[in-house]
Amino acid sequence: MRDHLIIFDTTLRDGEQSPGASMTKEEKVRIARQLERMGVDVIEAGFPAASNGDFEAVKAVADTIKDSVVCGLARAIEADINRAGEALRGANAARIHTFIATSPIHMKNKLRMSPEQVIEQAVKAIQWARRYTDNIEFSPEDAGRSEINFLCRVLEAVIDAGAKTLNIPDTVGYTMPDQFGRLIRTLRERIPNSDKVVFSVHCHNDLGLAVANSLSAVINGARQVECTINGLGERAGNAALEEVVMAVRTRQDFFPCDTRIDTTHIVPASKLVSGITGFPVQPNKAIVGANAFAHESGIHQDGVLKHRETYEIMRAEDVGWGANKLLLGKHSGRNAFRSRLKELGIEFESEEMLNTMFVRFKDLADKKHEIFDEDLHALVSDEVQTPEEHYRLLSLIAHSETGEIPFARVVIADGNNELHAESEGSGPVDATFRAIEKILNSGAELQLFSVNNITSGTDAQGEVTVRLQKSGRIVNGHGADTDIVVASAKAYLSAFNKLYSKLEKAHPQV
Ligand SMILES: [Zn+2]
Repeated sequence: MRDHLIIFDTTLRDGEQSPGASMTKEEKVRIARQLERMGVDVIEAGFPAASNGDFEAVKAVADTIKDSVVCGLARAIEADINRAGEALRGANAARIHTFIATSPIHMKNKLRMSPEQVIEQAVKAIQWARRYTDNIEFSPEDAGRSEINFLCRVLEAVIDAGAKTLNIPDTVGYTMPDQFGRLIRTLRERIPNSDKVVFSVHCHNDLGLAVANSLSAVINGARQVECTINGLGERAGNAALEEVVMAVRTRQDFFPCDTRIDTTHIVPASKLVSGITGFPVQPNKAIVGANAFAHESGIHQDGVLKHRETYEIMRAEDVGWGANKLLLGKHSGRNAFRSRLKELGIEFESEEMLNTMFVRFKDLADKKHEIFDEDLHALVSDEVQTPEEHYRLLSLIAHSETGEIPFARVVIADGNNELHAESEGSGPVDATFRAIEKILNSGAELQLFSVNNITSGTDAQGEVTVRLQKSGRIVNGHGADTDIVVASAKAYLSAFNKLYSKLEKAHPQV
């Protein structure tokens, strides 16, 4: 029988640490449901001790998800572990992931602890975490720069203390595949009780090697890979879930293991994460890029038509391309709408909310003939009011005409107040942003403005991402509408609302 390769998704924790990718509780739950539907084994939902917002989000995911293990990150200290344990209390299956640095430089400068104290602290953390669950994962932070004999001693001690998974991170994305694979093999061979645990890896993509390093580790005995949808994550990101899963699936002749992922959910997951975070997927990205299965050259097309395997090592439909061919339209009723949302993992707390969404859906259906799953996700992202959503767009007039100076007039709601402003600009979007700034006076710097069409066709909804930066804080806002100027205004306000929400976060470098 083939070994089971455990897929540990950290989109909601490490992925969320990409500058500007912060997600609301509701967004995290929606992504978690999609991960559960895909068959992800473990969902790392956040770092509960980082902030109240993070705690609440982990709790909401733990209370919702039934078929995946829900994991919370905690430093190897009691207070963090208690927060994680409390957040995970409602989970069907919970895991606590605790970590401490083991490299000389970190132990000396950051922790100010001796190696012996670090071992003692790690063991105490595992023992403490066992008050909450037996499913405990341990990571030696900065393992790559740790001294191998010491690393073996720490890991042996935490196994004895009851850790079930040992995760070896390549935190700075520095190692080479061969070297990383050897490290995993060495640890398994040298730690006397290594057969009692699952070895896991967590690789960063600074040199574009996160997936290669992860797969090299799998060949050398790792049976859990930590990864994220679209490779989201700090700096250059993490190993991409879709690439790891499809490499192993496609090369069953090469790997001694397989995952339990239902790969037909991969593309919808990719679109969902990209829509929520506002990080578009590059067209030539493996598996989930728009061109990943497009055989444009005539020679290739001929080959594909005659014999699929000539050029296709995977089938587009196996990873979920074309799975969204739904169709709701203007004549769809409330029940069809509700049941499609339910299939997408979207449920509303109140009937009233569903009614509001149905009205918005009908509005959209008037403008656009076919409504796809992506449209529904965008509609929900757009509509769901988060507590920090302070300013809302009430109306917008934008004028552009050849030979004339574009101008825009906006009305924004601030609680019960209506705020009006107008401005000229170099184009309708610029004029709109200037008018909004007249009201908000944020002084934020616009770092990115991008427009993507959610589905194809000129009647498609445009999804706009706006990235704002102020005092070192970076946020993404997004907005969707069939009118891209309106979508732009919504995206700007969404970014502004996030910028001024009180979400402070600590960022562990695991
Ligand atoms: Zn990481």
